[in-house]
Amino acid sequence: MTPGETAAGDVATGVTRAEAVRGGAAAGGSGGGRGGPVPDAAAWDRAAELISAAGEVALACHVSPDGDALGSMLAAGAALRAAGKRVTASFGDRRFAVPRLLRFLPGQDLLVEPDRYPEAPELMVTFDVSTVDRLGTLAESAGRAAELIVVDHHPSNPGFGTLNLIDPAAASTTALVERLLHRLGLPIDEAIATCLYVGLVTDTGSFRHSSTTPAAHDMAARLVAAGLDTEEIARRLWDGSPFGYLKVLGAALGRVRLEPEVGGGLVWTFVTRADRAPYGLPYDEVEGIIDVVRRTGEAEVAVVLKEDDDGAWQVSTRSRGGVDVARVCSALGGGGHARAAGFTSRLPVAETMAGLRALL
Ligand code: 5GP
Ligand code: MN
Repeated sequence: MTPGETAAGDVATGVTRAEAVRGGAAAGGSGGGRGGPVPDAAAWDRAAELISAAGEVALACHVSPDGDALGSMLAAGAALRAAGKRVTASFGDRRFAVPRLLRFLPGQDLLVEPDRYPEAPELMVTFDVSTVDRLGTLAESAGRAAELIVVDHHPSNPGFGTLNLIDPAAASTTALVERLLHRLGLPIDEAIATCLYVGLVTDTGSFRHSSTTPAAHDMAARLVAAGLDTEEIARRLWDGSPFGYLKVLGAALGRVRLEPEVGGGLVWTFVTRADRAPYGLPYDEVEGIIDVVRRTGEAEVAVVLKEDDDGAWQVSTRSRGGVDVARVCSALGGGGHARAAGFTSRLPVAETMAGLRALL
C-alpha cells in the first residue's frame, strides 16, 4: 500500500463547482461515506493539480482545533511553504487562540487571525472540518473560494467542497494529508512528521480506538522512522496540565451520574465556566474530561457538557460501538464519528440531556 492508503480504499470524489453545496447540505452523491461514487484516484490527482497550479493556498481547520485538525493543517502548510507556495492558515474562532497543549506543534508562524484571512481565496483547503458550521467565521471565505478542497475523515461530512477528499476509513485527517503530500511528491521532514503523528496519536486514542487499522500502525512506523521523539510528544500532549485542571476535574466528577436504563447505560456530567473561573483555566483544558468519564464500565455512552467562554455548551459524546453517536449528534445539529461525536447547545443542561436521552 502507498503511504496513507487505507485498507478500505479511498472515498475521494470530485464534483464540479456547480454541484458543490456551499451551504453544507448533502451534495448529490458526492459525499464520502454516504454511498457516493466509488473512490476515485482521479480526485487525488485533481487535488494535486489544483495545488500545484496555485501560487497562494489558504488553509483552514475546524474551530476549537484538536490535534488532528491543527496537525493536518500545519503539516500541509509547512510542506506547501517549502514547495514555494504562499500559505495562509487559520481557524474561525471568535477568540482565536491555539490550545496550550498544541502550542508545541511546529509551523505556527503560518497562522493568521481569522480577520486577516483571504476573503475570496483562489484555492482554499479545509482539514478535519465535517460541516461548513465548523469553519466558524471562515465559512464565508469558503463560500467565495474559487476552488475548495475538503480533506476529512468524518463519515457525516456531506462533501461541501468543489473537490472532496473524504475517507471515513482513515484513522485521522493527517493520514489523508500524508497521502496528499505523497501525491504531490513533497518530502516529510521531522517537523511535518510531528504534526502528522500528533493527529494520528490523538484521533486513535493512542492507538486504542477501532480506527487503529494496520494502515494506522504503518503510518506511525513511517513517521517514527523519520526520527520523532514520541516520548516527548506524549509528555507535551498529556502530562502538562495546570494544577487547576485537577480541581475542575474533581468538580466535574463530583456531579457525574450513571443512568443504567438509558441507551445501554449512560454516564454523564458537565463543567461550567464558574468551575474554571477560580483557576483561570481556559476552556480547552477541559476537553480531556470525556476521556476519564468514558472509562465507566457500566456505560455504553459517555457524555460531557462543557460551557465555553461565550456560555454555549459544547457537548462531547462517546460510545463503545453499540450506539451511533454521530447519528444522535447530527440530529442535534452536530456530527462526528460513530463512536466519538459532538454538538453545540444553547439550552440549559437538563433540557440538552432530555433531548439526548430521547435519541439514545
Ligand atoms: P470532541 O468531543 O472531541 O470535541 O469531538 C468528537 C468528534 O465529534 C470529533 O470528530 C469532532 O470533530 C466532532 N464534533 C464535536 N463537536 C462537534 C460539533 O459541534 N459539530 C460537528 N459537526 N462535529 C463535532
Ligand atoms: Mn480528526
